[in-house]
Amino acid sequence: MAPVAPGGTIGILGGGQLGRMLAMAAAQLGLKCHIYCPDTEVPAADVAAALTRAPYADAAALAAFADAVDVVTYEFENVPAETARVLAEHAPVRPGPLALATAQDRLTEKNFLSRQGIATAPFADVASAGDLAAALERIGAPAILKTRRFGYDGKGQARIAGAAEADAAWDAIGRTPAILEGFVPFEREISVVVARGIDGETAAYDPVENIHKDHILDRSYAPAALDAALAAEACAIAGRIVAALDYVGVMGVEMFLLPASAGTARLIVNEIAPRVHNSGHWTMDACAAGQFEQHVRAICGWPLGSPARHSDAVMTNLIGAAAVDWAAIAAEPGARLHLYGKAEARPGRKMGHVNRLFPLGKRPPVT
Ligand code: AMP
Repeated sequence: MAPVAPGGTIGILGGGQLGRMLAMAAAQLGLKCHIYCPDTEVPAADVAAALTRAPYADAAALAAFADAVDVVTYEFENVPAETARVLAEHAPVRPGPLALATAQDRLTEKNFLSRQGIATAPFADVASAGDLAAALERIGAPAILKTRRFGYDGKGQARIAGAAEADAAWDAIGRTPAILEGFVPFEREISVVVARGIDGETAAYDPVENIHKDHILDRSYAPAALDAALAAEACAIAGRIVAALDYVGVMGVEMFLLPASAGTARLIVNEIAPRVHNSGHWTMDACAAGQFEQHVRAICGWPLGSPARHSDAVMTNLIGAAAVDWAAIAAEPGARLHLYGKAEARPGRKMGHVNRLFPLGKRPPVT
């Protein structure tokens, strides 16, 4: 398949910060972006060549959008299957429908990982209160009940300390199809951002350690302090996932690192995101080719860039009011400030991030 050459146009579903940073990376390679987003505020449109503001169910608008671009991608995984199907009649959609279907449903995702022989938390399908009681008996407590679809940043989840809490948890998630996961006593949370090109070439960035606050990513430490064998294993797992999905683009793979004393596989996969990922934002400033450029290269059929890390980094999200400190951060030597152009700093809203760079081997310890 011929690559999308400079001058070509990428269609991006979704107009938030991920679309915005994709559009900026695309521009650097001489490519244009056309954003499709139903929202009134569209940060990605500030830096894109065109915007279609229409609902994701508007088949005519989708068709016209896809006819106007060379390839379609997306910045969020909950793209409705019907939307992706309509678009695919008019332009290649990358990553493809298998990745979307797998990542949109926690049960499909866990079953897929198990089939690949990749370790996950123990899990069970829960379609009713009766299933939940049986699943709790099998998996034991503590456990976490998660909706199969549309969960993010800890939403659609309820912890269960014992059988007495089962009914409340079922109510809390809205009595909707779910999975029960055994609570994993992890030592650390890490992630790998990996890319796969159209020709099957893969390139993984170094694993990072992630610290969450209020269920939202707060900081990523690059690289994670892992021995070389574990770091290589984490990258190999991510590579197996993208290969099995015949994936094209960048994917975020979230993992738990279990203590060595657990006597089990030390790395288990929590979830996959078929898109550029917040825990990969450090790559923009600390790697030869950052994740946004890498995604653009992959979906356009270009050779992948080098994921090599030339600096260590700590990425800190600027959430809600944190972005008011922009002037102080801008004055900090070595701090690379990224602001998303959002008007209103609501609590929990990602307004920007800052990458603080350090010489290789010199990043501060995780706090
Ligand atoms: P998720 O939405 O699946 O990414 O879960 C959000 C957060 O909940 C994760 O980042 C973990 O901190 C925690 N978590 C999720 N699943 C488990 C589990 N099976 N065991 C322990 N902690 C979990």
